[in-house]
Amino acid sequence: MSRLAQTHGLTDVQREILSTVRDFVDKEIIPVATELEHRDEYPQDIVDGLKELGLFGLMIPEEYGGLGESLLTYALCVEEIARGWMSVSGIINTHFIVAYMLKQHGTREQKDHFLPRMAAGDIRGAFSMSEPALGSDVSAISSKAVRDGEEYVLNGQKMWLTNGGTSSLVAVLVKSDEGHPEGTAPHKSMTTFLVEKEPGFGEVRPGLTIPGKIDKMGYKGVDTTELIMDGLRIPANRVLGGVTGRGFYQMMDGVEVGRVNVAARGCGVAQRAFELGVRYAQQRHTFGKQIAQHQAIQFKLAEMATKVEAAHAMMVNAARKKDSGERNDLEAGMAKYLASEYCKEVVEDAFRIHGGYGFSKEYEIERLYREAPMLLIGEGTAEIQKMIIGRRLLEEYRFQG
Ligand SMILES: Cc1cc2nc3c(=O)[nH]c(=O)nc-3n(C[C@H](O)[C@H](O)[C@H](O)COP(=O)(O)OP(=O)(O)OC[C@H]3O[C@@H](n4cnc5c(N)ncnc54)[C@H](O)[C@@H]3O)c2cc1C
Repeated sequence: MSRLAQTHGLTDVQREILSTVRDFVDKEIIPVATELEHRDEYPQDIVDGLKELGLFGLMIPEEYGGLGESLLTYALCVEEIARGWMSVSGIINTHFIVAYMLKQHGTREQKDHFLPRMAAGDIRGAFSMSEPALGSDVSAISSKAVRDGEEYVLNGQKMWLTNGGTSSLVAVLVKSDEGHPEGTAPHKSMTTFLVEKEPGFGEVRPGLTIPGKIDKMGYKGVDTTELIMDGLRIPANRVLGGVTGRGFYQMMDGVEVGRVNVAARGCGVAQRAFELGVRYAQQRHTFGKQIAQHQAIQFKLAEMATKVEAAHAMMVNAARKKDSGERNDLEAGMAKYLASEYCKEVVEDAFRIHGGYGFSKEYEIERLYREAPMLLIGEGTAEIQKMIIGRRLLEEYRFQG
């Protein structure tokens, strides 16, 4: 059988990396994922395995000890990993975004200080824009940094940090008044701080508290937390890029590659749902034949596979565009939007094919059913993607009358 979601034009190195990751997923992730997820247990052995494979440094340049691979290679690895268990892709995703932001925007000293240990997986990254009162509307951020000599003092509350507990470096977006007088546009008065901390919960650094894990409906295993800054002192050399006021742009750059990533996760989860659906359809019999032999089920399988193929093609296109050095916000927005919506639909169809058994925790599809909705929200909701897509289309198709 020719497998779905093939990617043409890959190099030998890319093919080798992907085959290693796929093998790891089949042997080390799929057999344990559902059990760990039901226990909401952090997959330490899997993370150690990913470290060994060098996945934490996949896109970090070779001069810093990484593999220096492209966004496409990274996205295809994420797709494979999410096929095994979406939470594991969440563990590397925020790390990847922070490493990418450092690579693109960090000072030389910041790159030298963080990237080699990030490539080894010894420092792991989380990124923090959202607050209790906002997610989509980043311009409404109220956490603040005030300069005090060679330091900044940070106060405020952040929300929804993926890897908030397990990370040791958090890129935190706050408002900074220094050099940005009253009336400056909100997105020009935001700064990203590189906040180092101990992994764990409670007061992980003076002035910085990570309360416990947020209890979620799915996407378990990976920790999602709040972050409270109360007089947190950060040295001035930990402003990303060394200059205040650029945080919004730096974060948006990170989120743009993050969107390709979420699209890749949607592709991976949808592929797994298809695999589960097509297998079950050939095992279950009703009315004297396999349910796969009923045309209604074949139509479902056909729709599911078509969605898997379409989402994969758009995700690959968005990654390749970024790799070519071009702006890809339109393609990334479209890929993220389509892949997350299709993922939810493919998972729902696979769930329906399972009949009552889909509702049982014994079947993997039950986990996927609780995981897919997260993709509709993370890295910007469907409505936000459509706003980005719509604005970009009007730029491209401006009426010249
Ligand atoms: C499991 C999980 C992990 C996360 N991890 C991270 C993380 O690591 N770092 C981080 O910073 N954030 C993280 N987030 C936060 C996530 O990015 C936000 O939840 C998301 O951006 C949506 O923001 P919100 O929840 O505040 O919803 P809101 O912004 O309040 O939106 C609520 C609803 O209104 C809609 N809406 C909002 N504005 C408009 C508009 N202008 N037009 C039309 N509709 C609109 C939205 O689409 C949505 O349907 C995570 C969230 C979850 C659930």
